[in-house]
Amino acid sequence: MNAMRLIGLIGGMSWESTALYYRLMNEEVKRRLGGLRSARILMHSVDFHEIEQRQHSGDWAGTAEILAGAASGLKSAGAEFLVIATNTMHKVADEVEAASGLEVLHIADATGDALASDRRKRVGLLGTRFTMEEDFYAERLRSRFGLDVVVPEKPSRDAIHRVIYEELCLGEVKAGARDLFRAVIDDLRGGGCDSVILGCTEITMAVDETNSALPIYDTTALHAVAAVDRALQ
Ligand code: GLU
Repeated sequence: MNAMRLIGLIGGMSWESTALYYRLMNEEVKRRLGGLRSARILMHSVDFHEIEQRQHSGDWAGTAEILAGAASGLKSAGAEFLVIATNTMHKVADEVEAASGLEVLHIADATGDALASDRRKRVGLLGTRFTMEEDFYAERLRSRFGLDVVVPEKPSRDAIHRVIYEELCLGEVKAGARDLFRAVIDDLRGGGCDSVILGCTEITMAVDETNSALPIYDTTALHAVAAVDRALQ
């Protein structure tokens, strides 16, 4: 009997960032336990095309059905909790949890914990339009962690959304994208933010300390480490 819990990873949204999760979770287990120790992971990686089409046509029930099916399969195969490897799809986290009967380790909680422990107060949120403009994410950060959450202006939100789906999710990291993030983060700082959430699991491909005027909270890394915490608890 292995004391490490089996992580149920729902990935593929996009696979570019799921590959990062896989590496980060294994590195974290190795860092903590040493030697040849590695993470116990079961993954269901979806076809992102099917998710993206439903997101943009507003068929969130359809996306929930796909993820719930994946989650139930992971549960039958022995997964002990779920990690949904995208911020946006936490919009349907409750449905996935209810349908599968497995706990979803929420990405906004992993992020909120880190911000709260660093005593951050006013944080900029970057992500897809869904994550920046709807309540499911920012409201959780406000109500559970007392954070003041700020999003960029509409033209910047549109530009970031486009870069996520048309470049980063395809594995393309262009200079223009790095410049865009630099400028948006400068504005957030000017607006009094003390930190910025990379609230899309691909943004970490284009933003680091060299183009961020604010301390970065990378949801991909925070979520992966939180998963290892839970697995080793
Ligand atoms: N991976 C992204 C996120 O963290 C966007 C892709 C998606 O829509 O799931 O939100």
